[in-house]
Amino acid sequence: MRLSSVLSDAVLLKLFEVEPFMGSKKASWGTSKPVEVGTVTRQYYCKECNSVRPFISKKKLNCLVSGPDFISIDVVLKCLDCENTVENWFLLRCANDLFGQAPSVSIVYCNEHLGTSASSLGPNNEQMQDLLDRADLGRRVGLAAGSLIYLRKHFEITTHTAAAGANVPLTTSKGRRRPFAEILKDVDEMISIIPHEFSEDGYRLFSELSEVVHGDANEELALSKFDALRRLVVGVFENVKNNSEFTKAANDLGWNTKGNI
Ligand SMILES: [Zn+2]
Repeated sequence: MRLSSVLSDAVLLKLFEVEPFMGSKKASWGTSKPVEVGTVTRQYYCKECNSVRPFISKKKLNCLVSGPDFISIDVVLKCLDCENTVENWFLLRCANDLFGQAPSVSIVYCNEHLGTSASSLGPNNEQMQDLLDRADLGRRVGLAAGSLIYLRKHFEITTHTAAAGANVPLTTSKGRRRPFAEILKDVDEMISIIPHEFSEDGYRLFSELSEVVHGDANEELALSKFDALRRLVVGVFENVKNNSEFTKAANDLGWNTKGNI
């Protein structure tokens, strides 16, 4: 497998053996080096083309050696059909010899800067319904933490999609991940996504959802909150889907198809 496939899929923390790309000559930390790894291709919603398009890199990328086992790679990707570009940054760890014949690498961090050119692909109705079905199944067999993990995932995907559409940053100016509650608050202030029923305690409910997921709450108590949390999660999804600012994007992402959520 070539490194470009690993970067294109952008799966975090999974180890892949790739073709050698650093050459056999060792390079110390702080050294940058052009590497030929093949073309990285990722899908985004292009705001110029008004549709989901492949964004493609050049074959030669710049790699910065960060330490004996770490490298950093910056990738500029251009829409296949227009001049819009986005940036991706990857930090990779090598589990064996970076300069050997079969380096095994995993992505430990991936950051995207989409600017005004593109937005992330949102989930479609089927994916969201699947998460909800799994939550309901967990609830039926009495698995509180299990069922709430799916509700939380649903909630996070919806909020992050809305954030991308409303240009709410997901990372700090230093490139660190922003706390979810902060992102939710910013998005809600801009486009009001938390249903009225929960306007007072939407954030509190989310933190309860997190406590259960991290195993700090009583299972029975957690199950008793399932129905309210489910209403919150579905309500936020419906609000994002129906928000006029998102109508066009939602159509393109398949959210307009009638689901049974
Ligand atoms: Zn384009």
